[in-house]
Amino acid sequence: MTSTPPALSALLADLKLLTDLESPSTDPAAVQRVMDLVEGWARDLGAETHALGGGTRVFRFGVQPGAADKAAEKPVLVLTHADTVWPHGTLEEMPWRVDGDRLHGPGTYDMKAGIVGLFHALRALNGEWPRGGITVLLSPDEEIGSPSSREHIERAAHDSRVALVVEPPVADTHALKTGRKGTGSYVLTFTGVASHAGNKPEEGASAITAAAQATLELQALASPQDGTTLSVGLIRGGSAVNVIPAHAALEIDLRVSTLAEAERVDAAVHAWKPRDARVTVEVTGGLNRPPFERGEGTLALYEQARAVAQALGFDLTHAVVGGGSDGNFTAPIIPTLDGLGAPGDGAHAQHEHVRLDRWPDHVRLLTELLRRV
Ligand SMILES: [Zn+2]
Repeated sequence: MTSTPPALSALLADLKLLTDLESPSTDPAAVQRVMDLVEGWARDLGAETHALGGGTRVFRFGVQPGAADKAAEKPVLVLTHADTVWPHGTLEEMPWRVDGDRLHGPGTYDMKAGIVGLFHALRALNGEWPRGGITVLLSPDEEIGSPSSREHIERAAHDSRVALVVEPPVADTHALKTGRKGTGSYVLTFTGVASHAGNKPEEGASAITAAAQATLELQALASPQDGTTLSVGLIRGGSAVNVIPAHAALEIDLRVSTLAEAERVDAAVHAWKPRDARVTVEVTGGLNRPPFERGEGTLALYEQARAVAQALGFDLTHAVVGGGSDGNFTAPIIPTLDGLGAPGDGAHAQHEHVRLDRWPDHVRLLTELLRRV
């Protein structure tokens, strides 16, 4: 291995800069401030940088114009995001804090440390980019399903040969992510007929009864052995306890391992009808991210990463996880390896932290993988 481990102090100094800039997905201006800082790092390395519609940024390192036309010279795509799930003010309650081998702070593990590790890897390459160069995409809205960045990510995937995602490895392990469930959500809105619950209950048609039936029958569409889970996580309805309720609504969270399962559930949700014909139901929603199904190309990338880790002196494993990432958009198009960010635990949780004893090894892993891929 030609690379030396990056100095932890340098990694931490860069991560502190990004963490101090709180960047909830819901505040595009705050997210752009993180992007401005990262773009400065990219320019220092000679990148060609662009701002795309919706706030996505792209940085190209050694990518030749027209590279997308010849398969052999397509670049390596690296996916990152600058937003976090944490609202402004979180730093006051969850301050930047080093506790032994753990660095705590909002948005550090997911995924500002991934961005920092990537830039230390890019610096370590010292201008020797892999065949075709490297395209880095920085999304502003990954944590809310990438509504504005999805089209840019998919287009970039078509113009690249492989995708590497610097989301964290599986919590508290060295496991990379070689598959992710697809995620979907639905809102069902029920409209019935209101009536006095004591005097004329027969004239009413209960939207709540319909919502309750839908909850039980639609949750029965789950098929855990196929990787399909489905949960009604929110339900509301009614106007007063003595009124047959005319309104109700429920929201469904769906996870699927295959597109076929997504299609089965989607058809059943849309076909569902209340027993009482006086109640109508309106369905919105669907699949937000397609499943990232583990393919041959992804496994080959993983094997390459495992060999690198072995040479660096640690064992790598891999897993399929339930949560989605932008890797779900590239995996149906090109081989995708996810989990190449900083190890730690506590994504979206109070105990979010990066494992400082393991982080430099993962930065070296990414460096050597970028060199060989
Ligand atoms: Zn993330």
